[in-house]
Amino acid sequence: MSRTSNIDGLAHVGIAVRSLDEAVPRWTDGLGFRLVDTITLDSMGLNIAFLTAGDATIELLESFRPDSAIGRFLDTRGEGIHHLSFFVPDIEAALASASEAGMQLIDRTPREGSHGTRIAFLHPRALGGVLVEFCERKPSSGRVP
Ligand code: ZN
Repeated sequence: MSRTSNIDGLAHVGIAVRSLDEAVPRWTDGLGFRLVDTITLDSMGLNIAFLTAGDATIELLESFRPDSAIGRFLDTRGEGIHHLSFFVPDIEAALASASEAGMQLIDRTPREGSHGTRIAFLHPRALGGVLVEFCERKPSSGRVP
């Protein structure tokens, strides 16, 4: 059985870190990534650094509230890969078809992401422990995030 894909490509890999000050140089000095932007998402208790190299993008996620999702992740799992984010052209359609396929969603409706994007998370139970984010770019934006 095949189905049409709602996915355009890999948007970024999200990585939970204890300290951006320590993590950013690992990727810039160590691997030649370029730091594009750092933002604070107050609603989620997060500082996020966006880095790119070629067509690869990563976001480093630092929690400044222990009760944030990333804070709890760091407590239980430590630093490491937190989620994969895929570009979707139509986030409502992508959520609807994932749900129709019986996949459990964390977000039934999209929330606001960084850089004018709209994002939504599937439940990691739906994908064998992998947390997947859908990311819909605002029209006419580039590859970041
Ligand atoms: Zn993300």
